[in-house]
Amino acid sequence: MSDKKIRHVLGLSGGKDSSALAIFMRDKVPGMEYFFTDTGAELPETYEYLDKLEAYLGKPIARINATRTFDHLLKTQYNDFLPSPNTRWCTRELKIRPFEEFAGNDEVISYVGIRADEDREGYVSTKANIKAVFPFKESGLMYADIMRILNDSGLGIPAYYEWRSRSGCYFCFFQRKSEWVGLKERHPQLFKDAKQYEKFDPETGARYTWSQGESLDELEARAEAIKQNANQKIKSISAVSWQDKLAMIAEEEVDESCLICSL
Ligand code: SF4
Repeated sequence: MSDKKIRHVLGLSGGKDSSALAIFMRDKVPGMEYFFTDTGAELPETYEYLDKLEAYLGKPIARINATRTFDHLLKTQYNDFLPSPNTRWCTRELKIRPFEEFAGNDEVISYVGIRADEDREGYVSTKANIKAVFPFKESGLMYADIMRILNDSGLGIPAYYEWRSRSGCYFCFFQRKSEWVGLKERHPQLFKDAKQYEKFDPETGARYTWSQGESLDELEARAEAIKQNANQKIKSISAVSWQDKLAMIAEEEVDESCLICSL
């Protein structure tokens, strides 16, 4: 990098690891810029948690909105084709592109909350002016350390962990079936809103659903059975709290998740 001023930035997803990293770094990099790329479809609990985190950090968290909304992109560019794990256009358009615009052509060090006990790669920009660093990895901090950082700060983990294991859009296709049931119970209007995106083409028989293999109407019809299965799984995990249990389930499934949305 040249002798131009270097910006230090830390992206928050509303998830536990990036939040813990912000707390961990608070007094280490005075000029740190915190930001959150807002898809406009985040959970209310995420916004509430970010407000609390902002107060704790004593610094603003820049809310970066994509210039083109999900609905706009869906209609004008993706022909109603919902994103899915294989065609994750939403991540590119609503998370990565706004971040790169935020960085601009500045020389940027981006702090990423991947832990020492994780064998995965976060989003690392291919732009030459953005360099990613991994303080948890460098300091050998693991899952238990992250939970301790959050608890010691008094913030704990975001309230959505009561029913969902990751941050991200309310309609995120990475949600487990039981999390869709959680959305229906906690945020019935958002569940209804998610349904509005699903489509059935009677001519071709093609179905555009969020959850694999079934529509949200079909999923809703078997909500009780889904809940019972999920409860049995949670009971079988011997962790001290339900928050830990949910966070541990998320860890098991981490490879499927959208890292930049939920770290
Ligand atoms: S949280 Fe899910 S739906 Fe939202 S941008 Fe990320 S992958 Fe897409």
